[in-house]
Amino acid sequence: MYFETLAIHAGQPPDPAYGAVMTPIYQTSTYAQKKMGEAIYDYARTANPTRTALQECIAALEGGRHGLAFASGMAAIDCVLRLLRPGDHVLASNDVYGGTYRIFKRVYEVYGVSSSFVEMSDLDAVRAALRPNTRMVWIETPTNPLLKVADIAAIADLLAVADGIRPLLVVDNTFASPYLQRPLALGADIVVHSATKYLGGHSDVVNGLIVLNDDEAHARLKFLQNAVGAVPGPLDCFLVLRGIKTLPVRMERHSANALKIAAWLESHPRVERVLYPGLPSHPQHEIARRQMCAFGGMISFIVKGGPEEARRIAERTGVFALAESLGGVESLIEVPAAMTHMSVANSPLQVSPSLIRLSVGIEHVDDLIADLAQAMA
Ligand SMILES: *Cc1c(COP(=O)(O)O)cnc(C)c1O
Repeated sequence: MYFETLAIHAGQPPDPAYGAVMTPIYQTSTYAQKKMGEAIYDYARTANPTRTALQECIAALEGGRHGLAFASGMAAIDCVLRLLRPGDHVLASNDVYGGTYRIFKRVYEVYGVSSSFVEMSDLDAVRAALRPNTRMVWIETPTNPLLKVADIAAIADLLAVADGIRPLLVVDNTFASPYLQRPLALGADIVVHSATKYLGGHSDVVNGLIVLNDDEAHARLKFLQNAVGAVPGPLDCFLVLRGIKTLPVRMERHSANALKIAAWLESHPRVERVLYPGLPSHPQHEIARRQMCAFGGMISFIVKGGPEEARRIAERTGVFALAESLGGVESLIEVPAAMTHMSVANSPLQVSPSLIRLSVGIEHVDDLIADLAQAMA
């Protein structure tokens, strides 16, 4: 079936108990067993029906065999990193979510898992940065907050012919969502999501997801999901399932609004540079056109006048709320260097303090442009 149909129905047949059309919130920690050990569900950390529906739904949307749900995007990322062992190395994009950088450097390095960062749009640089002990390549595309685009298929090909053990290719697909980009079909091994963002879509839930095809890796991750226990509650799973139903229509509007706003910003005299994969001026625009079916709702831009001017603009908008996070129906504005990306300050991943990031919502685009115009006047 088509994506729009799967978004509404995958993993969600009418409930077997009473025929409820919407997947019920199974708010219970335990399940009565008919005979000892004879039960579909026994304990809610191990599995619960609302979570099963979400896991099957996201697997269908990413075109993968297995889905796993977690209490947050970071919990999902943590679970994937637990596939590594002391002595292993992760090669990651040189522009990643601040929390991802932080877990690599301040959590996993302590356990002997090293990480380094490379410009993923430069294939020669990626090839040169691979080490004999590189067991994982970690891509964000588009990246947060610089909206760089990596060619997933080209990197998968590169890894296939590299010497030694082929590293796992992991893609954090949070910015694109599976509606715009499906990394498994392009050769990725594992997809992770902060479902807190576009999948949930309404800024009302924190959640994380993993999708993959490999049965063995899935068995290990499923074991870890239960053994470590960073699982989402059933209400959280319900909220993400409800959000996903409108993902296709929301992503269309996010993308259409963002494309108009990006073009408007590019012609604004007080803007130095606009970073949006949908603009022909974007250095990886052609890759984005090939790999994504639209360009998403995230825009970053650098203003003339320095950090003070960036701060003034971010504090003067009315419709755009000054807030962290992204991917909800409402528009948000922030200055990454002072907000979401403080954890990369004084690191090689540091971002310009004059950079403003927009999460363009699905309000009327003319109201959004008018709001930015008055804030920048
Ligand atoms: C927000 C985010 C995360 C972390 O997800 P949480 O749900 O906040 O734990 C990971 N990757 C990207 C790209 C994000 O934007």
